[in-house]
Amino acid sequence: ESMTVQEFAKIMGKTAAEVIKKLMNYGILATINQEIDADTATIIATDFGFEVTVEKEEKEDIWLTEETPDDPETLEPRPPIVTVMGHVDHGKTSLLDAIRQTNVTATEAGGITQHIGAYQVEHHGRKITFIDTPGHEAFTAMRARGAQVTDIAILVVAADDGVMPQTIEAINHAKAAGVPIIVAVNKIDKPNAQPDRVKQQLTEYGLIPEAWGGDTVFVEVSALKKIGIEELLEMILLVSDLKELKANPNKPARGTVIEAQLDKGRGPVATVLVQSGTLNVGDAVVVGLTYGRVRALVDDKGRRVKKATPSMPVEVLGLNDVPSAGDILVVVEDEKTARTLAEKRQNQKREEELRASNKVSLEDLFKHIQEGKIKELNIVLKADVHGSVEAIRQSLTRLSTEEVKVNVIHSGVGAITETDIMLASASNAIVIGFNVRPDSNARKLAEVEKIDVRVYRIIYELLDDIKAAMAGLLEPEH
Ligand code: GDP
Repeated sequence: ESMTVQEFAKIMGKTAAEVIKKLMNYGILATINQEIDADTATIIATDFGFEVTVEKEEKEDIWLTEETPDDPETLEPRPPIVTVMGHVDHGKTSLLDAIRQTNVTATEAGGITQHIGAYQVEHHGRKITFIDTPGHEAFTAMRARGAQVTDIAILVVAADDGVMPQTIEAINHAKAAGVPIIVAVNKIDKPNAQPDRVKQQLTEYGLIPEAWGGDTVFVEVSALKKIGIEELLEMILLVSDLKELKANPNKPARGTVIEAQLDKGRGPVATVLVQSGTLNVGDAVVVGLTYGRVRALVDDKGRRVKKATPSMPVEVLGLNDVPSAGDILVVVEDEKTARTLAEKRQNQKREEELRASNKVSLEDLFKHIQEGKIKELNIVLKADVHGSVEAIRQSLTRLSTEEVKVNVIHSGVGAITETDIMLASASNAIVIGFNVRPDSNARKLAEVEKIDVRVYRIIYELLDDIKAAMAGLLEPEH
């Protein structure tokens, strides 16, 4: 709820001028009749020495974000969900194919592998789920939508090519998500392969092999000659054991959409990774803005199945419309409930689109710091030359104070791209360009995602802006 400066001043027994003066201290230029929001009012009132208690409206959880925590006794181990990342042409697709082919068992020979967006293999009787779209772009796009499904990232690095720009991007994207990395040093069949050089290069990014005193798992593989595949699977299971991945299979399902499309014959089809509970044919579901009753479930071998358990990917048929990747599927009581929820969500979304976004911008940084909402300022940094990247990265990091830590979550040479914007969106970061600009796609995406993108040509101006923002003194941009 908002009120005008004048109304607000009256409540506090102050003059409007006093309030306007206080607002100016925070870099807000307001007139008497200007509306101020509850957050701002809280800060100003506190400044005048009032104690503020904010009354929370009881809101219906139409997005079903609150999942009742499971009793530990109901939890059972679940398969790990793995994403393959790395530089272009280093062998991500080949590796995914090699893993899939190596593990087609006799019983499944009849089933033809379907590309539904994810697949499962078995190793020593245990299952592993692989997301079929390699690369950190899809991974981060999902994260930007609030969905994180990946438990482990496989970083593919070609032994003949070594660490390349997208290798570094992948590392930073996985780190920003807090996902452990297993390094697959690929193409070791090549005569010019230099696996040790790859290991050496990766130490710079904190990925240090166990043999060298670190804790990163490295596996040497050849996707082409199918060398090291079993060992890689072994290591995935090992890392997943350390993470103790568990879920309660005996409750209504929750899952995430990883792919969806409109199929000519079958209608809307969504590939869902079940994350907890069990999804059954006949369940009423709400999925993002869509809903329906599960008419059929199809697994990654093209077989109809009656149910899907945690970490299992399935195609879900029976939705009224095509959901988006990253949407959460939740089973509800009945189809009527599902429909009502979906309709409420659509209305809310429409309203929200009209309202401003809550992404960080330098201008409201100080407010968020004051409210304790922000303790870290995440930055994606791009510059024209490597030297500047390093110099600015270090200077930025040194701006950290006791209240706010400045984190450069990704830095690199070159224009600001869509991937940078997605990473910023997923990590609630701002994007800084030094002597580089966003390309046109990135500019469009930044508008949609409401990402604060700033470009500079002079280092001290850049640093001054960040310092000013942290102190609440930033002049609004013109
Ligand atoms: P992606 O862009 O990372 O998905 O890479 P691809 O899987 O498309 O592979 C790029 C190229 O490298 C293709 O020509 C593959 O045949 C080749 N390649 C992939 N893995 C290996 C390998 O282990 N050894 C050799 N010699 N070539 C490989």
